[in-house]
Amino acid sequence: MKAYLIPMVVALGASLSACGDAGNGGNGGSRYDAAAYDASAYDAATADGSARFADEAALLRWLREEEKLAHDVYVALQGRSMVFSNIAASEQTHTEAVKVLLDRYGIADPSEGRAAGSFADPTLQSLHDALVARGSASNVAALQVGAEIEELDIADLREMRGVATSADVRATLDTLERGSRNHLRSFWRQLQMAGASYTPQHLDAAEFRAIAESAAETGR
Ligand code: ZN
Ligand code: ZN
Repeated sequence: MKAYLIPMVVALGASLSACGDAGNGGNGGSRYDAAAYDASAYDAATADGSARFADEAALLRWLREEEKLAHDVYVALQGRSMVFSNIAASEQTHTEAVKVLLDRYGIADPSEGRAAGSFADPTLQSLHDALVARGSASNVAALQVGAEIEELDIADLREMRGVATSADVRATLDTLERGSRNHLRSFWRQLQMAGASYTPQHLDAAEFRAIAESAAETGR
């Protein structure tokens, strides 16, 4: 496992600059402002073969910040529903689990020294800002943002699984996806109780329903 990751660390500089370019490229930084944000914009910015999942080191750096994003957004929205503080605590364990892997393989931590709401990757920074702004509009909007973050996490974790080869990385991806499925169920239940609708943004409708309407799994 380690033999695979060590050369990836050497390649990290190249991956990161490519990632930064993808995040900045051509959108003038405005694509994710609160008014303009929609999921298809995020998908377009990240589906161009950018280096975010090019290898295990790149995907772990992305995942460290993606889990921090979930945590930071939920903390920002925690006044909107009781559900947020519990799930934020779970996201803290998720981002720390990724930090363990970064440390194990000697990969620099992109979240090092960063405050809540601050991200090294410009795409994730914009996404964070847009989601907090959107979720702050109402209790239902906050729950919809929660559901969208969980959907996005599940879709990304599944994509990462196609890249990861190390057993410990794959095990962490599986644990985090199980947590995300449970979080998605929680947000979906709250949305139903609020009589609100939700249109899946990152998973297809059948897949979303299969997860959202199945029983919670052990673990978080
Ligand atoms: Zn998570
Ligand atoms: Zn989650």
